[in-house]
Amino acid sequence: MTKISDILSRGRSFSFEFFPPRTEKAEETLRQALIELEPLGPSYVSVTYGAGGSTRERTHDLVVDILHNTSMTPMAHLTCCAHTRAELLEVVERYRDAGIENVLALGGDPPADLDLPPGELHYAVELAELVREVGDFSVGVAAHPEPHPKSPTRKSDRKWTAYKLSHADFAITQFFFEARHYFDLVESLRALGVDKPVLPGIMPATSIASIKRMSELQGSEFPAWLAEKLHAVEDDPGAVWRVGVDEATRLCQELLDGGAPGLHFYTLNRSPATREIYTALGLRQGAA
Ligand code: FAD
Repeated sequence: MTKISDILSRGRSFSFEFFPPRTEKAEETLRQALIELEPLGPSYVSVTYGAGGSTRERTHDLVVDILHNTSMTPMAHLTCCAHTRAELLEVVERYRDAGIENVLALGGDPPADLDLPPGELHYAVELAELVREVGDFSVGVAAHPEPHPKSPTRKSDRKWTAYKLSHADFAITQFFFEARHYFDLVESLRALGVDKPVLPGIMPATSIASIKRMSELQGSEFPAWLAEKLHAVEDDPGAVWRVGVDEATRLCQELLDGGAPGLHFYTLNRSPATREIYTALGLRQGAA
């Protein structure tokens, strides 16, 4: 097993994010994506957690399965909302005992349709501390280039992100479509004394409806120029996909040219977009 902090200290990282499937068909789609993406030699891969605990077992099982049955280094996402401290300790202790060394500590947004209790921890930084109490984990956190939608001001979000990073090894960002958002985040964190790696999160806009929905949820701007390009070919899903991949490739290149320490791909459990971008960027197997 390898700690992500060690991987990042060796140079640029290229990582992939997956979510635990809910159905047998979705399970098959994920399996196929894992088979097709493993040969790219990602620096690590991560598995999301359903806020409130809806994927508690499935996230655990997938993370441990990746550890034992693939060559890839896994990281477990964990969210603190709607959980007691004891529940979180139990989840993290199970990971420690299973040999998992990497956790992404998150706040989470509990599903609005479920009347869940608020939880004993209020912010992701408290979860990062809890994870470190349990074991010798490498701990990552989330960062929001276009400040978190619940933040009263950009300045306060930057300040809390800097504080959170003082308890973590690295951050992965929410997705965005213009590199300036990422560079602004990094610049403000540097000004606040942060020197930890901040990995940009990449979400190719390959479907207009879902990118619109996710942008609204996460507070990411869906820029007019991108919407225009996508809508110009909206009747042809293949052409929409092409625009999304080409624009994501351009963004990745701009981020790497500007000094980003790597890229984190939100794969949505599918491989083609990530593979295309990898090829277009000239990244080879084991690029990290
Ligand atoms: P926090 O760091 O707790 O921040 C939430 C808000 O509180 C922000 O406005 C922040 O400025 C403010 N804040 C932070 N600390 C303090 C403090 N000490 N005092 C006062 N205010 C504070 N969600 C899932 O449900 N499952 C996942 O697997 C998942 N994976 C993600 C992966 C990545 C890379 C990213 C970027 C997001 C992910 N999310 C996931 C979404 C995330 O849970 C939401 O964006 C959530 O609303 C905020 O999480 P956070 O960890 O940034 O929270």
